[in-house]
Amino acid sequence: MLEFRGVSMTYQTGTIALKDVSFTIQDGEFVFIIGRSGAGKSTLIKLLTCEERPTSGKVLIDRYDVAKIRRGLIPYLRRNIGMVFQDFRLIYTKTVYENVAFAMEIVGAPRSTIRRRVPIVLSIVGLRDKSGARPGELSGGEQQRVAIARAMVNNPMLILADEPTGNLDPTNSETLMALLEEINHTGTTVIICTHDRELVDRMKKRVIEIDGGCLVRDDAIGLYGQSCPIRTRPSLKSEPDDELSGGEPAGEPIREVGT
Ligand code: ADP
Repeated sequence: MLEFRGVSMTYQTGTIALKDVSFTIQDGEFVFIIGRSGAGKSTLIKLLTCEERPTSGKVLIDRYDVAKIRRGLIPYLRRNIGMVFQDFRLIYTKTVYENVAFAMEIVGAPRSTIRRRVPIVLSIVGLRDKSGARPGELSGGEQQRVAIARAMVNNPMLILADEPTGNLDPTNSETLMALLEEINHTGTTVIICTHDRELVDRMKKRVIEIDGGCLVRDDAIGLYGQSCPIRTRPSLKSEPDDELSGGEPAGEPIREVGT
């Protein structure tokens, strides 16, 4: 479970990016976070990945208060989050296989697991036959599918996608969304920040809208442009705040997705 509890965030420049934002996302949900440019979507993501810390309020992932995590433990948090960006962020000197394998190497996965897992994940995203290609030889849609493979290869509890279809045409956007939906069906929580109105309307998923740093809408099944009253989901019973203060969280066994 992931919870924003009265979160405000002011940058050092004095810009107020988020104001008293509260919502809860349960494990296994598929959620769009929408809002115009500058609304605060990326800030919200940065709070989840610990790139920024809230000025006030709490960001809780399971029982951990993200703001209190010791610096040295941030990598353990991040290995449970698969990130997908608008500009793909692949390593262009490495092959498709190496890009995905690299994500496993940096978390210390055994070679045998990497050799077994990477081809499976590349098959899921439909790129098994492009394993030896470099990203520069692929289309934008294919590159984003490599990014999805990289995001899911360590079997994260959460995939965070920041404008993942920003550089894709409608057909590739649709393929990408179908893929994210498939991953979501295996139990991974998926959160997508976007201002792509058509995409959100088509998917009919939960929509959280941010405007000027404020949460202005939280609909179980939303249409982007629809105006309706705020319906913020009630939080579940609060867990006691618990600082991630000791030991390495036990790694989950790698799940064979789609097999
Ligand atoms: P979005 O992702 O919805 O476009 P952001 O979260 O990037 O919005 O930005 C929210 C507000 O915070 C904007 O006014 C933006 O200019 C400001 N902002 C974002 N990042 C920084 C930063 N590193 N330093 C100062 N202000 C920032």
